[in-house]
Amino acid sequence: MKTAELAASDRSTLWHPFTQQQGWHDEDAPIIDHARGCVVVDTEGREYLDGTSSLWCNVHGHRHPVIDAAVKAQLDKVAHTTMLGLSHPGAIELGARLVDIAPDGLSRVFYSDNGATANEIALKMAYQYHHQAGEWWRSGYVCLQNSYHGDTIGAVSVGSIELFHSKYRPLLFETWAAEPGDVDAMEALLREHADTVGAVIVEPLVQGAAGIFLQPPGYLRAVRELCDRYGVFLIVDEVATGFGRTGTMFACEQEDVSPDFLVLGKGITGGYLPLAATLTTEKVYEGFLGAHEELKTFFHGHTYTGNPLACAAGLASLDVFEEEGTIAALQPKIALLEALLQEHVAPLEVVREIRQKGVMVGIELVGFPLETRMGHRVTLAARERGAIVRPLGDTIVVMPPLAVSESELRRLVTITAEAIVAATDGVVPEAPVTADSV
Ligand SMILES: *Cc1c(COP(=O)(O)O)cnc(C)c1O
Repeated sequence: MKTAELAASDRSTLWHPFTQQQGWHDEDAPIIDHARGCVVVDTEGREYLDGTSSLWCNVHGHRHPVIDAAVKAQLDKVAHTTMLGLSHPGAIELGARLVDIAPDGLSRVFYSDNGATANEIALKMAYQYHHQAGEWWRSGYVCLQNSYHGDTIGAVSVGSIELFHSKYRPLLFETWAAEPGDVDAMEALLREHADTVGAVIVEPLVQGAAGIFLQPPGYLRAVRELCDRYGVFLIVDEVATGFGRTGTMFACEQEDVSPDFLVLGKGITGGYLPLAATLTTEKVYEGFLGAHEELKTFFHGHTYTGNPLACAAGLASLDVFEEEGTIAALQPKIALLEALLQEHVAPLEVVREIRQKGVMVGIELVGFPLETRMGHRVTLAARERGAIVRPLGDTIVVMPPLAVSESELRRLVTITAEAIVAATDGVVPEAPVTADSV
């Protein structure tokens, strides 16, 4: 099909995620045909820097020869077999490698195929563990305000981004949301609901979908200590932060924290194929052991759980981390990214704040009226200039693959700055609310 035909067919048949379809028709979104390294190429041959890592998952660039070869080799063996009642080498080997690199104490790997389900699994395991340990009342969860853990109903229940989640409130189970970064607030909630809370779930160091909000140093460590004191599990959702995104393999490492559940997704396959994993401790695992008739089994599984092609990609991605010294090579890029943002973006009048952790960047603009869709306009302007970035409201998210080169970083930041200037030119920001105007 030609581009025009494809576009017409997209408009008449598809419904895109997180997209207002009214207006989509006029947008001429690129139709991506292929990619190489950190560049994606559309059906018209136009090239774009992949400034969102194909939605926060690509790690070593597209078409990495080592990962390509591993997936092709697996394809010559089998594309999919089930983990229900059977096993396969890729799942076994990747499981062992994940346990090796994960924080201490995480010794069991339960696969699924996306971040939301991997969180659901942690939530259900925590609940069922307590139930089977005779503490059935430990059925509630504490999360953080503005948290995001995926879009299925359980994950939305522990999510608290008004814009995405408030409409579904009647469908959700009750949770308590603590002010992020405030240890006393977390402790107050745990104390108040000590008779019902079974687990705390957090995104470590960075709340991604909220708009790249950073937690103060020491916060995650303090939450771990509170969880120990109140006898509740700590679920750490590293779906976004895992696999190097914050500058270390896992964000937990930076606070020397071992969670009871470590939730992995997005970058686990280098961004190649859908796979996720929920890691937990021997203690949790043993809480599910029993004779068949005790019915302590974890009755949960997805058809494509632990898919062999995805596991092959995951193993190859970990090989690349080792062979290329990806984490070490990333450090100067993080510093360069910070310097470039300071030079090109920080001076812009319409930029309120830049938040960065590793290669996760949120550029918050001063408030513009909702109907201007300013974040969205900036991404369109960036696209015209050859880079893909995404808005979260009026925050522009820039998150290149770990494999990004220094010259690509330069281009990505200058394009983003130019796009902000172009899109905001002549648009009046919302008057700041001052004491006088109230
Ligand atoms: C993206 C994301 C998820 C959801 O992962 P999916 O694979 O999209 O279901 C969960 N938690 C965090 C922190 C994420 O960034």
